Amino acid sequence: MILLNATLAEPQHFSIAEKLLLVALVVVSGAGFWRRFGAVLDKIFKSKKDASFHLFPIGKRTWDFVWEVVCQAKVIRQRPLAGLAHAFVFWGFCAFALVTLNHFAVGLGIGFLDPNGWFGRLYFYLAAVFALACAAGILGLFIRRFLVRPKWLSQKLSWESGFIALLIFLLMATYLAAFFVADTDPAARILWWAHTLAILTFLPIIPHTKHLHLVLSPATIFLSRGGFSQIPPLVGDEDFGLIAGTDLTQLVSLQAYSCVECGRCTEHCPAANTGKVLNPKEIILGLRDYLNELGPASEEPLLGKYNAPEAPFQCTTCGACEFQCPVGVEHLPILVGLRRGAVNTGAWENDYGSKLFLALERGSNSLGMAASERDKFIEKAGLPNFDGTQVYCLWLGCMGGYDPKGREIVADFARVMKYLGASFGVLRKEKCTGDPVRRLGNDLLFQQLAEENLKSLAENKVKKIVTICPHCVRTIQEDWKEFGTPPEVEHHSEFLARFADKLPKQASEEKIVYHDPCYLGRYRNVYQEPRAIVELAGELVEAPRNRERSFCCGAGGGLAFLGEETGERVSHVRAAELVATGAKTVGTACPFCNSMFRDALAEKGDSAPQLLDIARLTARGLPENGTS
Ligand code: SF4
Ligand code: SF4
Repeated sequence: MILLNATLAEPQHFSIAEKLLLVALVVVSGAGFWRRFGAVLDKIFKSKKDASFHLFPIGKRTWDFVWEVVCQAKVIRQRPLAGLAHAFVFWGFCAFALVTLNHFAVGLGIGFLDPNGWFGRLYFYLAAVFALACAAGILGLFIRRFLVRPKWLSQKLSWESGFIALLIFLLMATYLAAFFVADTDPAARILWWAHTLAILTFLPIIPHTKHLHLVLSPATIFLSRGGFSQIPPLVGDEDFGLIAGTDLTQLVSLQAYSCVECGRCTEHCPAANTGKVLNPKEIILGLRDYLNELGPASEEPLLGKYNAPEAPFQCTTCGACEFQCPVGVEHLPILVGLRRGAVNTGAWENDYGSKLFLALERGSNSLGMAASERDKFIEKAGLPNFDGTQVYCLWLGCMGGYDPKGREIVADFARVMKYLGASFGVLRKEKCTGDPVRRLGNDLLFQQLAEENLKSLAENKVKKIVTICPHCVRTIQEDWKEFGTPPEVEHHSEFLARFADKLPKQASEEKIVYHDPCYLGRYRNVYQEPRAIVELAGELVEAPRNRERSFCCGAGGGLAFLGEETGERVSHVRAAELVATGAKTVGTACPFCNSMFRDALAEKGDSAPQLLDIARLTARGLPENGTS
């Protein structure tokens, strides 16, 4: 009968020959590890320095590290079952760090954890609990990868992953089995050597495979740019974006080597899910292949052999990829960087893109309309001029100033502001914030628009902006910082939610499905405020993909202006999902989403749900004259 020992069994003595063999094996294994890992580090360190990188504030970095690496929070939150299995393996490795050090020390006769002392006994039992969890976790991951086989993991079976899973399982099994033998039993020695060989086989495999993330991803998460979709400024006259290997920065190279190929980014990508060429995982792996084959000193273009030139331009900048990535890969600076490179070298030729750039160079708005059209709308809607005395500057944005449906949103929001007695006005002249050109990689034009707007806002003494467009909010608050200090800015959902108790609650059971716009949700973390407003107008219904998992409408990243898409239309896929909820109304909080769904829902004819922005939903509950 096999009995559980009071503690872990370790062989008592090792012969000189065994010790020499152990040292030789450790040296060979370590050399195998370093041969590849040293080369990877060399490529990362020889990449261009990140000019805008700074380590401070260190508190946020430490918190992200503890939350995402130590607690594995992101991994678990996004895929709870697989995430937990992964976390068990990770925590098992952490607990085994001390056990492993002691294991090799025992082989050399200098073991420092006494299995019969109170601490050693306690620690070995604790490690046994982690070993059980780790073995269960790796078994679960193995079953998922080889039997369940989700489609976003590569369809090719990865035997390397299977082998590594086997090694990890063997490590845990040999450790646990040592609790069931006596230390004088020859089986203890066999288990000890089996455990040793499993470790020494595992070590050199790490840097040769995607398991490199075990070593790199803690650093990648700690050193990340520290904010969502942080597009670094171009530096000096020679920086035109990501064109060749010489433009890859240390952070980009570190991230490329950290990718664990989990496919979470691709699973959530609206482009990859609607038949486009763009696949965010392949973008990152393409950069890794480039670094492996050509290195960071190469002048060969990044787009071409390693990534399709059209791929970055199919990105809606929805940010689902970056939000999901568990190892800190920041896709958006990379995708926008590749666009910058293609735009600045003239490699990107697109009639719609040229038309947009021209419209913004010559005029004031991305819709290419005469500024007088905005004046006419302001007059017709009776919007007061901003004269420096009001609290809020109501920023119209291109969609609010020129798009007929966007104007309806602005007009209704202004009615609500008047009803609430808020003091506001609109600027006589306003230019596009530069959002589409910023995301499309035309920095020169973006800078011009940002500077002109900042100057005009300062001249008009604007202190607070409120707007119906989350793209304007993001661009004003974050992107303009590169060129000055923007005024405070908020989205109308935040404004409305603040006054929710003063707004009428409509006696309606109408089901309203709310669509989270990417630039309000993932970019600004605003989820509850628009929901609070929807609940005043009817019964809130959730789409299957909601909040931070919301599926894009297809308009972002300048794509609203780039004409027909290839493959299925992103807006149609999302609209179908919203319609399938059975809600009578689709509630939006972004004029771009509104415009995309308007076209997609038009196809449904009379059976289509109505489409209303939260400002319109609120305004319809106001007393007839719209004033208090
Ligand atoms: S930002 Fe959105 S569209 Fe672009 S690659 Fe990432 S998930 Fe895909
Ligand atoms: S980039 Fe991140 S999310 Fe995408 S496959 Fe790599 S590790 Fe996974």
